Amino acid sequence: MADHPEWPERYQSDLSDAGFDTLAVRAGQLRTPEGEHSEAIFPTSSYVFSSAAEAAATFGGERRGNVYSRYTNPTVRAFEERLAALEGGELCAATASGMAAIYAVCVAHLEAGDHLVCSRAVFGSTNVLLEKYLRKFNVDITYVNPLDMDAWKGAVRENTRMLFLESPSNPLIEVADIRAIAALSRDAGAMLVVDNCFCTPAAQKPLALGADLVVHAATKYIDGQGRCLGGAVVGSAELIDPVIGVLRSAGPTRSPFNAWVFLKGLETLSLRMKAHSENAQLLAEWLEAHPKVTKVNYCGLPTHPQYELARSQQSLSGGVLSFEVAGGREEAWKVVDATRMISITANLGDTKTTITHPGTTTHGRLTDEQRAEAGISQALVRISVGLEDIEDIKKDLARGLDLL
Ligand SMILES: *Cc1c(COP(=O)(O)O)cnc(C)c1O
Repeated sequence: MADHPEWPERYQSDLSDAGFDTLAVRAGQLRTPEGEHSEAIFPTSSYVFSSAAEAAATFGGERRGNVYSRYTNPTVRAFEERLAALEGGELCAATASGMAAIYAVCVAHLEAGDHLVCSRAVFGSTNVLLEKYLRKFNVDITYVNPLDMDAWKGAVRENTRMLFLESPSNPLIEVADIRAIAALSRDAGAMLVVDNCFCTPAAQKPLALGADLVVHAATKYIDGQGRCLGGAVVGSAELIDPVIGVLRSAGPTRSPFNAWVFLKGLETLSLRMKAHSENAQLLAEWLEAHPKVTKVNYCGLPTHPQYELARSQQSLSGGVLSFEVAGGREEAWKVVDATRMISITANLGDTKTTITHPGTTTHGRLTDEQRAEAGISQALVRISVGLEDIEDIKKDLARGLDLL
């Protein structure tokens, strides 16, 4: 959003050559005639017009202007412009949650008879949305191992319209080859949608790697402090316009207050992602050397099977890791229960470190066979590494590990 036209030229920012960190604090800058320095919140459901003719022109689309906050809101638009700039996309549509973003993409771009190829390692609610609801509308879905290029190739059919993945995945931190899958998707005439929640644009830019759409749960790292739910979709105007159409008709649009919180989140995203990654790296190295830890899943470790691939498509390794303890469920629970500072919660992307046992929480719904096939053992513990002192995080995990 341009600054108010009444402001002198020095406030009409030109960000065309600006770097990531500049865009994170300046893009989408919104300033009213009041001259406020930080972006204002516009808690209004509707907007007024100066005349019947102006209302008619605005409704008719001949005049640019706000009509109703399910359609547009200045605070929400400031967030959209900022995130679009950071992801390197033409347009962004902000949503009420991450799931609303994925829902809107599916409803906008899939129809009865279409086929979707989805990584088998996606967020649990994404799985439910596809299986329980999308299938009802006769969209067929094939799940593939995200690391297996032959599986992606083999799954694509004539009616495949969309490929969907998360990278790195939860909870095993598997890194999918976004460039190769994007090329396959293009050849098939389909679109690749990447859930960039774990990395954020501070660590990975899927559009630059060839993806067509990026979806976000802003709930996680974009807020970064576990306070608000929100989501977003970013891509070309051609692909985002139909998504906006769905959001306007179905209604899971972003509240102005949440947009304002996420604007603040974007300003520190880069700093926080660096700090999360630094702490996660130190913790992963410490865990790898611990005698009671049998395996560590973190893409910043040279022992990670896709270490080189991660380095080629991510600029940071991120804040989420998982590890297996010597033993099984009992031992994993012991480590979880022995913590005194780390929060036992399945949420992630928070300044506070969180710990969860995927086998009985986020992935508890899967059958033993499905879990075994996905590689999620009962000895697995997942950590979203926060911004506390790394020595305190290690100490808290050592309480349980040293009991084993
Ligand atoms: C949390 C999450 C979502 C869903 O976001 P909500 O805001 O909870 O709806 C989607 N994808 C990933 C990877 C997530 O972690």
